[in-house]
Amino acid sequence: MLELTVEQISMGQGAVDKSAALQLLAQQLVADGLVAEGYLSGLQAREAQGSTFLGQGIAIPHGTPETRDQVFATGVRLLQFPHGVDWGDGQIVYLAIGIAAKSDEHLRLLQLLTRALGETDLGQALRRATSADALLKLLQGAPQELALDAQMIGLGVSADDFEELVWRGARLLRQADCVSNGFAAVLQQVDALPLGDGLWWLHSEQTVKRPGLAFVTPDKPMRYLGQPLNGLFCLASLGEAHQALLERLCALLIEGRGQELGRATSRRAVLEVLGGELPADWPSARIALANAHGLHARPAKALAQLAKGFDGEIRVRIVDGQGGAVSVKSLSKLLSLGARRGQELEFVAEPGIADDALPALLAAVQAGLGEDVEPLPAVSARLEALEVEPPISAPLSGSLIQAIPAAPGIAIGPAHLQVLQPFDYPLRGESANAERERLSTALREVRRDIQGLVERSTSKAIREIFITHQEMLDDPELTDEVDTRLKQGESAEAAWMSVIEAAAKQQASLQDTLLAERAADLRDIGRRVLAQLCGVQPPQEPSEPYILVMEEVGPSDVARLDPARVAGILTARGGATAHSAIVARALGIPALVGAGPAVLLLASGTPLLLDGQRGRLHVDADAATLQRATQERDNREQRLQAAAAQRHEPALTRDGHAVEVFANIGESAGVALAVEQGAEGIGLLRTELIFMAHPQAPDEATQEAEYRRVLDGLGGRPLLVRTLDVGGDKPLPYWPIAKEENPFLGVRGIRLTLQRPPIMEAQLRALLRSADGRPLRIMFPMVGSVDEWRAARDMTERLRLEIPVADLQLGIMIEVPSAALLAPVLAKEVDFFSIGTNDLTQYTLAIDRGHPTLSAQADGLHPAVLQLIDITVRAAHAHGKWVGVCGELAADPLAVPVLVGLGVDELSVSARSIPEVKARVREFSLSEARSLAQQALAVGSPAQVRALVEAV
Ligand code: PEP
Ligand code: MG
Repeated sequence: MLELTVEQISMGQGAVDKSAALQLLAQQLVADGLVAEGYLSGLQAREAQGSTFLGQGIAIPHGTPETRDQVFATGVRLLQFPHGVDWGDGQIVYLAIGIAAKSDEHLRLLQLLTRALGETDLGQALRRATSADALLKLLQGAPQELALDAQMIGLGVSADDFEELVWRGARLLRQADCVSNGFAAVLQQVDALPLGDGLWWLHSEQTVKRPGLAFVTPDKPMRYLGQPLNGLFCLASLGEAHQALLERLCALLIEGRGQELGRATSRRAVLEVLGGELPADWPSARIALANAHGLHARPAKALAQLAKGFDGEIRVRIVDGQGGAVSVKSLSKLLSLGARRGQELEFVAEPGIADDALPALLAAVQAGLGEDVEPLPAVSARLEALEVEPPISAPLSGSLIQAIPAAPGIAIGPAHLQVLQPFDYPLRGESANAERERLSTALREVRRDIQGLVERSTSKAIREIFITHQEMLDDPELTDEVDTRLKQGESAEAAWMSVIEAAAKQQASLQDTLLAERAADLRDIGRRVLAQLCGVQPPQEPSEPYILVMEEVGPSDVARLDPARVAGILTARGGATAHSAIVARALGIPALVGAGPAVLLLASGTPLLLDGQRGRLHVDADAATLQRATQERDNREQRLQAAAAQRHEPALTRDGHAVEVFANIGESAGVALAVEQGAEGIGLLRTELIFMAHPQAPDEATQEAEYRRVLDGLGGRPLLVRTLDVGGDKPLPYWPIAKEENPFLGVRGIRLTLQRPPIMEAQLRALLRSADGRPLRIMFPMVGSVDEWRAARDMTERLRLEIPVADLQLGIMIEVPSAALLAPVLAKEVDFFSIGTNDLTQYTLAIDRGHPTLSAQADGLHPAVLQLIDITVRAAHAHGKWVGVCGELAADPLAVPVLVGLGVDELSVSARSIPEVKARVREFSLSEARSLAQQALAVGSPAQVRALVEAV
């Protein structure tokens, strides 16, 4: 996020002309490590395409798309030119803001910057500023606009008294981030002002972050201090931002139009009356923006110039966007929209000019506003693409389908399909009261249902998912909006679904992946309530244990399962290392994923036989196959029972070679189960899960306490901790990371933490402090070069001087092919390697580990992956170092002898897999395993490797 700081500002600069100014700016950006030398030519090329003069004495030089690869880090540098620099066309620049940005962040920077600048003429003030502080204040102190849009209006909200209505108004301001949490309490202390016509006014400056006005009306007639209460304004006041609005409101009251506000049934009507939005009857036209980098300065300038040619008001807004409409004639306002490629723009023009202006604007946007644009894929083209997909049909009786093995075990049972069905419902309702009643009954039912799930869940993480669902159901924002629609005559189903869908869309559009994923939860509860309203019962669960068939299983779906009823899981999409597969394994339910869309056409009740180890699905298998499978399943049951009985014994091959079996966990709560299942230590503590469980980065003390709990639970067994592995596709909500085209190839793991030393140091300090003489092993994720390892090691060693630790080993995860290939060099310096086969497989085979169709081929038993493991082990052993495997491959019964044969010393798996993995080790001798491994290295496909193991 753009933050302007005094360090970025250089005061009192001089430049004879624009070219000299650009040169100065480029020097500064290079010196600060933001860009490469060649960026200057990008700045010049950009100016040659069109001046970056923004107005008010400010220019915003930046590179062209072609020079983006010269940007190392996003940032800005500001140069003040008190004597001015001629930027062409007689425009004089007193402040040049040089932007280094890799992609769309550029637009975000401009949006924030122009919002800060507002419309006032700052040029002379910027010129006269004598300190960086003063200049910064000018930029930051520019008047802020009053926030007033549809989100700030709540009509017919349920409230029993004045206090509750105040609370509702304050909540809208809080949600718009205008105020801090305590604002509701502040307003309760303020004397309300009656405006007449049943309207009331409250305002305060306390805890205000930015000015905003909320307006709420109650759902039933109300009185306050003996007078009617039809509507309440709550103002978060800051400076003069609300002045114009207040004047309009006074004029309105004098004209006797106050009642229009109290009686308004649509938020748009309120905005029109208050003058915040244009009259609804002004002509409008929409078009999707196709410019690759959105509405950045150059196309925005072209648009503003075109609009200025029309004598009348023209505004534009982003359809589905959060902000209101802005004047098309104002460049800074256009930039403040932050419109991106693919977003739809709506132009609204005064009736007198609309016939000419709207077609001209649409044509200009379509032509690219001076840029070459790649047309957006047309809806019809997308439909055509869908139509050419070959038709699919349900798998026939007796067929065998190969899918991705996701959790071992054999399951036999009838198919039970849980596939989303379209619902049919009327759009208009009987009466608002009747529809409200139906909705509240449905909500009550669903709430009760979810409460049952909360009570049944034994895991904290799973319980929290359902508690979030309950909170979503109880969110007054949602119910208020639905109520407004019910009053307008919509049916409960239509009102509920359109509000849920709008909220989900808004959530999904958030940059932050984790928050955006919450959209799925919203849609989930949306459908539950809809099913209840439509009287659609979920398909009857078969009485015997069944095989659940779904398109894709989210972790929360798995969490909802009753392992006693669900014999197996089969999905059309998904990959073996997807988190849902990991959860299925943790619950011990055999699972196959990525079986293809045809399985969704199976009739409910079709007998299925699922082999979660070999990745096979038999549809309506013949008696002999069933007989064999049943036998195998029973044998497996017995083997597991025997394995469980010996879970605390060491894992020794038949010829006495010891293999350590450790557990993978994500939080201290997992230690007890791991030890109970026979873990000889923790082989992977995924610390990012601890970070993800907190709303902001846990401080050193919190982390130390958590790591101590893990060590305490281990009773002297070793703990292998992986430092924070976030970034890329696993962002932390409180760590904004620039959007990347290929997050798996981007700034993740050690690359990210090395860029943020304070966070990494805090984690290391917490770890070292927690050790207290107990065996601690620290490893770094995603290391791809010797330099990265050395930087991480040096940081740790430096901290170790402050916090001595008796029994510490430092190592790296081998997850990137370059690390495996460099193992002979790295092995001299590290204490150990731990191979993360999930990532190592995806990077070796160039297959996204979660890819819906390809991940079936992302098999860690691929000979290419085995070659890399072989290199790693040989290098480590040559230097007397040990090697573990902590990816999912370590728990694959077919992979265990191969890994042991390659010389792997330790296997780290989920707690429930420990007894089975130990038992598997006891089944072969080291010499057999070695010869198997050598054969595996010599074949050409994972299928051949699996066949070799099965033949033994
Ligand atoms: C791996 O990549 O194999 C690994 C253990 O790390 P994660 O699955 O957490 O990326
Ligand atoms: Mg990994």
